[in-house]
Amino acid sequence: MSAPESPLAAASQWPTGLDEPVRTGHHGISPDDIDPDAVKVLRRLSQFGYHAYLVGGGVRDLLLRRAPKDFDIATSARPAEMRRLFRNCRLIGRRFRLAHICFADGKVIEVATFRDLPEHDEGDGPIQDDNAFGTPATDAVRRDFTVNALFYDPVTDEVIDHVGGLEDLAARRLRTIGDPVVRFREDPVRILRAVKFAARLDLNLDGPTEAAMRSEKSELRKAAIPRLLEELARMLWQGAAERSYELLAELGLLELLLPEIAAFLGRPVDEPWKPLRNLLRVLDQRFSGEQQYPMGVLLAVLYWPLYQAIVAELPPRTDPSRLRRLAETLVAPAAIRLRIPRRDVGILIAALEGQIRFEAARRQKSTRVAFARSAAFPGVLDLFELRQEAEPISAEAAAAIHLLAKESPGADVPPVGTLLDFEDLDDGEQRRRKRRRRSS
Ligand code: ATP
Ligand code: MG
Repeated sequence: MSAPESPLAAASQWPTGLDEPVRTGHHGISPDDIDPDAVKVLRRLSQFGYHAYLVGGGVRDLLLRRAPKDFDIATSARPAEMRRLFRNCRLIGRRFRLAHICFADGKVIEVATFRDLPEHDEGDGPIQDDNAFGTPATDAVRRDFTVNALFYDPVTDEVIDHVGGLEDLAARRLRTIGDPVVRFREDPVRILRAVKFAARLDLNLDGPTEAAMRSEKSELRKAAIPRLLEELARMLWQGAAERSYELLAELGLLELLLPEIAAFLGRPVDEPWKPLRNLLRVLDQRFSGEQQYPMGVLLAVLYWPLYQAIVAELPPRTDPSRLRRLAETLVAPAAIRLRIPRRDVGILIAALEGQIRFEAARRQKSTRVAFARSAAFPGVLDLFELRQEAEPISAEAAAAIHLLAKESPGADVPPVGTLLDFEDLDDGEQRRRKRRRRSS
C-alpha cells in the first residue's frame, strides 16, 4: 500500500470532522491525581517547548475515577532530545525508542515520542513497519480503542480527544479506533485486550467491535503466542476474571484458546460453569492490585472443575501416579499450544493432583513432611484456599491441609473449621511458621 495522504484518512471509516480534536476542561482530573514524578516530566518537557501529554490507560482510568496503574507520557520531543533533558533517562527499545525516566524506589515513567501510523505491506493484515515519529493526531489514531487514546495536557488542564473517546467513555462503550475488522487483523491480540478492558472497566462492547471480535477470532492463530498467554493470565489476576472468562466463552474465544476446557464448560448459562464461576469470583475478591498467584496456579483454577469432574468418576484411593498422569494428559495440549513455561506447567499439574493427593499424604509422617516441603506444595495450598471459599470442603480435608501446611516452611497455615480436634491427627509437633511470601 502506498503512503497514506493524510494520517486520519488512513484510519478507515474514520468519521470526518474529527481532524480538529475536541478539547475540554470539564473532565474532573485534578493534578493531585497524577503521579508527582509524571507531573515533573510533563512540566520539564513543556518548559522546553515540547508538547507533552499524559496518555493511554492513565487518562482513561482518571476519567473513570479509578486509580491508574501507570502514567505514560507522549511527547513531541525525540529520544535524543529527552536524553539531553533528563539526567535520569534511559532509552530502551531497538526499533521504536522509548525513554524511561527513572525515579526513586525503582519508579519508571515511560515517555514515547508521538508515533506515526503504521505502514501495511499490502491491504490490511499484520503491521509491517511501525517505527516512525508522528503527530499527536497520528499517535492517537494508531492506538487500539477510543477510550485508550485520550490525552491530558497539564499546561492547559484539558483533555484532548482525537477519536471520540470522551463520548464513548460517557456512554461506557468500548470501540476500536477505525474499522474493527482492520484493527483486529492488524493485531489480533487486540481482541483479547477488548475482552480484558470490557470486563475490567465494565464497558459495553460497541456493536461492530463485538461483531468483528467474533468474525475475526481465528486471526488469533496468527498472534504471538506469549502475548496470548499473557492476556489470558492478566484476565485471571486483574480482578475481573469472572466477567472476562464469561465473555471469552460467550464470544467463542475460549473454544479457540482453551478448547479442552471450553468443551467441558459449555455456555456460561450451563451447569458446568458454576464451579468455575465461583472460583473466578473468589480470585476477583482476593485481587489487591498486584499479581498474587503464579501463572501455574491461575491456570489450575481454570482446569480444576474439569479435573475434579474426571476424578469423581475414578475409584476411591486411585493410585497417585494415575492422578498425576491424568493431570498431565489434561494439561499437555495447552502446555504445548500456548507454550506455557515449563515451571508453570509443573505448578499447574502439581496443584491439580495435589488437591486429591494431600488427604492420603497426611496419614504418614514421612510422606506428609516430604509433600509439604516439596516445591509444588505452595501451589497446592493456593488452589486449596481458593477452593475453600468457592466450594463445600469437608472438615477432614481442611484438617488434612492444615496439618500439611504446618510442615511447610513459610506457609500460611490456613484456617480450619472447629469440628475436628486437629491435635488428634497431628503428632504433636507444633512449630510456628512465618508468613509465606507469595512469588508472582
Ligand atoms: P492497563 O491499565 O491494563 O495498563 P493500558 O491502557 O495502559 O491498560 P497498556 O497495555 O499498558 O494498556 O498500553 C498502553 C497504551 O498503549 C494503551 O492505552 C493503548 O493506547 C496503547 N496500546 C497498547 N497496546 C496496543 C495495541 N496492541 N494496539 C494499539 N494500541 C495499543
Ligand atoms: Mg498500562
